[in-house]
Amino acid sequence: MKNSINGGASGSGTGLDVVNPATLEVIDTIEDCGRDAVDLAVSAARDALRPWATSDETRRTAMRACHTVLTEHEDELAELLSREQGKPVAQAYQELRGSARILDWYIDVSLPDEILRENENELVVARRRPIGVLGLVVPWNFPVTILSMKLWAAIRTGNTVIVKPAPTAPLTVLRLAELVNTVLPRGVVNTVTGGADVGQMLTSHPGIDSISFTGSTATGAAVMASAAPTLKRLTLELGGNDPAILLDDVDLTTAVPMLVRSAFHNAGQVCQAIKRVFVPTALVEDVVSQMVDHARATMVIGRGQDADVTLGPVNNGAQQKIVQDLVADAVDQGGKVHELGTARFDALPGYFVRPVVVSGLSLTDRLVAEEQFGPALPVVAYDDLDALVAHLNAEDFGLDASVWSANEARAVEVATWIHAGQVYVNTHAGPPDPEIPFGGVKKSGFGRELGLRGVDDVTDLQVLKVARAVRPS
Ligand code: NAD
Repeated sequence: MKNSINGGASGSGTGLDVVNPATLEVIDTIEDCGRDAVDLAVSAARDALRPWATSDETRRTAMRACHTVLTEHEDELAELLSREQGKPVAQAYQELRGSARILDWYIDVSLPDEILRENENELVVARRRPIGVLGLVVPWNFPVTILSMKLWAAIRTGNTVIVKPAPTAPLTVLRLAELVNTVLPRGVVNTVTGGADVGQMLTSHPGIDSISFTGSTATGAAVMASAAPTLKRLTLELGGNDPAILLDDVDLTTAVPMLVRSAFHNAGQVCQAIKRVFVPTALVEDVVSQMVDHARATMVIGRGQDADVTLGPVNNGAQQKIVQDLVADAVDQGGKVHELGTARFDALPGYFVRPVVVSGLSLTDRLVAEEQFGPALPVVAYDDLDALVAHLNAEDFGLDASVWSANEARAVEVATWIHAGQVYVNTHAGPPDPEIPFGGVKKSGFGRELGLRGVDDVTDLQVLKVARAVRPS
């Protein structure tokens, strides 16, 4: 599939294969773009800036047309997303509909200028102005959701963009760009495909004003270094290793289904997934056995395009190896592995990982201390809650955390002292809510997406001061 640059198809659309991660069949090819394509995209986006930044009403009308054209092609997009990413088709629909809600919210939201002072002598107004050309770099786990968290706020506020999807799940993003280019002015949304080299060309390009990046912490650090010489603005949504902390009065009947869903949805490839569960020692056996029972009744692992499958493969071979290595290390450390769900992938060659819960590990074992980003969940015993929270706060990540207890006030008190971007009580994350800002602290990144805070990340603040009466001093 080709890129969209300056409103039309661009380049060869060949060079890199995109495979279905369940079957390893090649679905399509994309181009490994070079500097010429990136320069072309930057100049198209720069040329489009002034006219696009001129009228908010024109932008809202064009974005309504984006909603219409994307809804008309929902079936095609859902099928494509499932095939390239691996997720069940029903979950691909959920991703598209959640993304449409983000689009709707940014179409409707009111963004008035803020009058700071107005009197007979002067008018002082704080105005949001577009930053300029934004580079949007997205990963492969929720390609459409994560793009939507960046794109709609960016173009509603008058920026133009260059999108770089991940090479192992680029097709739905490319098709989305093709579709919106049938209704947007040319040059507003451009794409370039490829891997780290193309990403690096964007992050260092003098014609790009800001980068919004979602991906791993290591790559986020590389993005920051690459963007430094041109002093770009940055939004970095990076890795996480979200803890769920169960207190001794937790209601397991309601908690267990939510814990399983949050840890294993999208085969665990969710930045905000529960990545480890901390449980008072006396409750560990109960928690593990209830998780295994719940998963037995609800989880079928196989090809995402088969109707009864609830959990697909992981998206690519590199990720499969990361998860398998972490589970092997957990076994070496004496961890006890409990397999979950029903496997329907024995005859498939793809990147499948059998979902597991692992008990018997300590805080410093790799599966607990590192982000697995896959379907392998450690359930870890603790005896001292304060010591546990102090340990978690001393770790690198700070994306989300959750506290589970029948006593809300007690859970909120524990939550208060956890250093993370989002802290939940008796729930954990869920689909992005357009009006609630989202982002990390510590090495999970900085900046916010969604809501009005998300608008701050894609705009510059301009203070306009108008003198109305000049008085001799
Ligand atoms: P990744 O960092 O390898 O890649 C992300 C994107 O960056 C891809 O498009 C990739 O091609 C591009 N890229 C790679 N090297 C680059 C470079 N040097 N310069 C510029 N771009 C570069 O991440 P991934 O493996 O695709 O995704 C998994 C990671 O993403 C996990 O750590 C996960 O927690 C994180 N993630 C975070 C969030 C969040 O919102 N905080 C959401 C989803 C995923």
